[in-house]
Order: sequence, then C-alpha cells, then structure tokens
Amino acid sequence: MLCASALSAQPRPLSPNVARYVSVNAPVVALTHARVVDGTGAAAREDQTIVIQGDRIHAVGSAGAVKVPAGAQVVDLTGSTVIPGLVGLHEHTWFGGMAVSTPMSVTAPLLYLGMGVTTAMTAGTMFAYQELNLQRAVDAGVVPGPRFLIAGPYLSAGPPNATSGDRLLTSPEDTRRVVADWAGEGATWFKFLGGETRAELAAGIKEAHARGLKVTGHLCSVTFTEASALGIDLLQHGFITNSDYVSGKKPDVCPPENMHVQADVDVNSPEVQASIRAIVSHGTAVASTLGVYETFIPERAHLDSAAMEMLSPAAQAEVRSNNAGLEKSGFTVPVRLLKKMMEWERAFVRAGGLLGAGCDPWGTGYLPGFGDLRNYEMLVEAGFSAEETVRIMTLNGARIVGRDKETGSIATGKIADLVVIRGNPERTPHDIYNVVTVFKGGVGYDSMKLREAAKGKVGIM
Ligand SMILES: [Zn+2]
Repeated sequence: MLCASALSAQPRPLSPNVARYVSVNAPVVALTHARVVDGTGAAAREDQTIVIQGDRIHAVGSAGAVKVPAGAQVVDLTGSTVIPGLVGLHEHTWFGGMAVSTPMSVTAPLLYLGMGVTTAMTAGTMFAYQELNLQRAVDAGVVPGPRFLIAGPYLSAGPPNATSGDRLLTSPEDTRRVVADWAGEGATWFKFLGGETRAELAAGIKEAHARGLKVTGHLCSVTFTEASALGIDLLQHGFITNSDYVSGKKPDVCPPENMHVQADVDVNSPEVQASIRAIVSHGTAVASTLGVYETFIPERAHLDSAAMEMLSPAAQAEVRSNNAGLEKSGFTVPVRLLKKMMEWERAFVRAGGLLGAGCDPWGTGYLPGFGDLRNYEMLVEAGFSAEETVRIMTLNGARIVGRDKETGSIATGKIADLVVIRGNPERTPHDIYNVVTVFKGGVGYDSMKLREAAKGKVGIM
C-alpha cells in the first residue's frame, strides 16, 4: 500500500547547489511505458511502470499490473530504457597520466552521477583527504554526486621515493597500522598497488576484515591465486595484471614483463583455467576495466568528443598529444591482448566468478562516467548479453561492495537508484551514452545539467 502521508508530503528539501541539477523531486513518481533491464540478468521487459515513493521503489511491473497512484508525478518514458544505477568499482577522483596529477573533486562527482554511476568505490588516490571531504559533502547534500565508498591512499611499497603520493609500506606491522588508521579516518576499502609482499597484503586483509572492511588491488608482486588464497575481496583489471602467468616469477617481486607477456598466454590452457577455478573457489571478485586498456591500443584508441569538452584547454592539448604519441609511449596494449582479456573475463564468469566493472579514469582521455559507460560496449563486444552486461555493472557491483540488499537492481523495496536512457542499448549499444535522468534515492538529476557544470574543468578541479 502507498503510504497516504507520502502523497501529501512536500518534495525533499535540497540545498540550492543540488536543487539546480534536479529535474524530478516529488513524493511519488511514476515512470511509465519504460523498457526495463532490471540488473538481475533477466530479459528486458517492455512497457513497464516503476512507482517511486520517497527514496524507494514502491512497485515495478507491466503497465496493466501496476497502477499509477493518484497524485503521482508521471514521467512518460516511451522509447527509453531504465537500468539500475551503476556501481563503479574503480572510480578515481583525480586525473592522472598527465605531467601533473590534479584532483577532480568538483568534476568527478558531476560526471559520475551525470553518466549514471550512483555508487562509486574509489580505488586509490594521492589526495585522500580531498576524497574523504568529497564523500562527506555529497552525503550531507552539499554537492551532487554518487554515494562514494572511499579506499583512501594507495598502499604501495618500494624504496624511499621523494615524489610518490602513495603510502609506501615498510612491513606487515606497518601495513596493519596504516589500515587501522585509515579505517579510523573513514576508509572502507583499501587499495594495494602491486609492490607489497604477501605478508604485507595478508596483514592488511586481516586488519581490514577484522573491521568488516574490504581490500582490493592492482596486483603484481603477489599473484591473483596467492591473493585470493589470502582472502582479498576484489582483483582489479583481470587477466592483464595477473602475474600468475609470468613464467619464472619470483615470490613477492613484481616482474617488469607483467602486463606484456599476457599477450602470448593461452587463456584456454589448463594452467590458466586452473588459476581461474582457484580464484573462483575463494569467492574473490574481479573488476573489469576493459575500456581504459582500449585507450592504450594504437589501433583502437579514440578521443570521445563529448568527453574532451569536459577537459580544460591545457588538459585537452595534453590528452591529444598523449593520444598522438601513444605508439612511442612506454605502454601500449596489443589488440590480441585485449581479446584475451575479454576471453578471460568470459571464462571467469562461466566458472562461476563474480565480475563487476570500473572506470579507472586516465590522461588518455578516459573520464569518470564516460569510461563506466564505455565498459558496456566493451563487455557486449566481449560476448556478454546486454542483460548480463547490465548485471555486471549494477547488481554484481552492489554484491561486491556489500550493498545488494539496498541497491543494484530494480525491485520493490530497493532504493530508487535508476538510470533513464533514451533508446535501446540492447539493439544499439552506443545508446548507453544517452543518459537523460539519473535517480539517486528517488531524486531525479538532469544528466545534461550535471555534465554542463563539469565542462572545461577536468584537469583543474
Ligand atoms: Zn586506477
């Protein structure tokens, strides 16, 4: 039953700086005649009605079965598709890969929310307090943005380095203390960056898990199978970073040929298939970031003109020059390696693995939100169905961050985190970029207004 008081209630009070981006804010909203991909992997359903009451989904079903409550604000979505809000698992709030790394404290929340990301796990930063302050400002309703889960500073290792912004770990006990300190500051995830020893990673995982917190990593010195046996929650990037596949790898050492030799590894070999089964057996999840690696492939790297408009003039010039100089840069990805990454992710899911997705913004022109949506096209290219792809980007991500009871799919009782997309991304994958309205907790944000506010500012703020 619809709560009677809801119909007489006023729209939620919003701060002026949030209200200016909001197009729908009513106590009861009915989205009608929508095509719905609900995030569970179920087939898309046509002509659906979604009733939002307050911050929750009150009902969802066919136009004949779900009544539009009297007094509801009705939004006719004929010709549009509704998917759950995206759950991003590698969502930086700083822009790097440039001469100078700059925070995106202003632009990242606008672009993530504007492109449909309603839950964003960050995956390391050198501006950790800015990120925590950003999370608090969003949660307090001071600025618009996704719900952030903060991973705090990069946890790395290695000799003293005057220019690193990472926390350079020195021992397992040091790692344990850093995790405890940052848990106290509000970090709920921890991101290892590939130089740590197994003992350091183990200490970090133990300390995090004792507090109900989680650990992820862009690994190298520790292999995927070693880390999953130690209990890591989420492995970033998949096949390309897995040093299990580097022959002669020494324990606790990051081999320089990692991320290169994988190009010639056979995904169907018994060894690789056994490693996938080992990762799955420990329940370790993987974050797919196919889109960002495409930006390192000379034959495929392309600059998205809508994304380029978000950059400051200086950042635009630098991104263009990075793109033009890709072949001569220190790191490129061969097309055959991308194909193998796709094959590996399909095999991982086929083996029962939990795959989510993340952006990993970078100075190759790969931006918050835009990159999350590019992953849709890449995962479809990898061979996942449209519905499976949406599940990877929504409900699977929610499971990985432990919020699947609240968000990640379109179901009665869940928080109304929804993305309204003009067109049909199942028929035309590129339609995924046609984000019109993003509902976060039942409040509908105008995607264009959010994106407009970020124009020309990435690379500055
Ligand atoms: Zn990253």
